[in-house]
Amino acid sequence: MTDIAHLGPVELLTPKPEQTLHFFHELMGMEIEGEEEGSVYLRGWGDYQRYSLKLTESKQSGLGYAGLRAWSPEALERRVAAVEATGLGEGWSAGARGRGPSYRFRDPDGHRFELYYEVERYEAPEHLRPTLKNQPQKYVPRGCAVKRFDHLNILASDVRANRVFAQEALDYRLYERIELDDGEEAGAWMSATIAAHELIYTQDHHRANGRLHHLAFWVDTREECLRAGDIFVDSEIKIEFAPSRHAVAQGFFVYVIEPGGNRIEVTTGGYYVYDPEQPTVVWTEAERRRGQFWGNATVETFHTYGTPPIEGVDHQP
Ligand code: FE
Repeated sequence: MTDIAHLGPVELLTPKPEQTLHFFHELMGMEIEGEEEGSVYLRGWGDYQRYSLKLTESKQSGLGYAGLRAWSPEALERRVAAVEATGLGEGWSAGARGRGPSYRFRDPDGHRFELYYEVERYEAPEHLRPTLKNQPQKYVPRGCAVKRFDHLNILASDVRANRVFAQEALDYRLYERIELDDGEEAGAWMSATIAAHELIYTQDHHRANGRLHHLAFWVDTREECLRAGDIFVDSEIKIEFAPSRHAVAQGFFVYVIEPGGNRIEVTTGGYYVYDPEQPTVVWTEAERRRGQFWGNATVETFHTYGTPPIEGVDHQP
């Protein structure tokens, strides 16, 4: 067990707040938990906290911040001390909607994070009250009806430096990584849980800093991923990478570009790591050339596009 329980909530920035909200509410099927000061808070029917996604209007797309919940007040103190020792800490805030004191910091690449422990559990309003007491909210069959936030993939100019920071300061476990022939690290799949990936760093093609690759939301079956594809086609949402299965971490996926320009994934599958001594899987450049799980090629923009886009260089899929 590590000091971090899980990643989330996440804040997503959008220059098209109305269309992005429509995407998450109507098409992804998330519920609006509340609104305040230019932000809308959304949740999947299986999220135990009040919200897992904060949407904020902004000039540019990209990641606002990622929350990291500690296992206990003591675990929070240990992680804050470890982050402070790296010199990347920014200090405490009183907290945010639905949670207590939060410690702000940036990873070496500049992405913003907030460490916290105290949260308010979600209490469903009358119209969303579940029949079964082991479910936080009634299942609402709208759009893709995503269950919960699943994982975060961020781009870094130096994957290795950020991966080492996540392992050493945040106590993250490294399950898989890609090492190129020249020794450079192209990707690292880490987790605070037994799920094969939760926090992922991949190389920024343009060697930029602080950018987002994608946010992923969970559904329970592959069929729901395929259905998500059907929903997006008829909603004029750009499918960047049609349903398939990744080789790394083995997740089943469909990737789309939401109206604000950010890449969003509907995902399921993958695997769980039960072995406390699980060796890290290291993929070579030649092995990666084999393609995804079933041998299909990765679409080009998946390697190059991130948010916020780099003007004149980054072309939105
Ligand atoms: Fe993913």
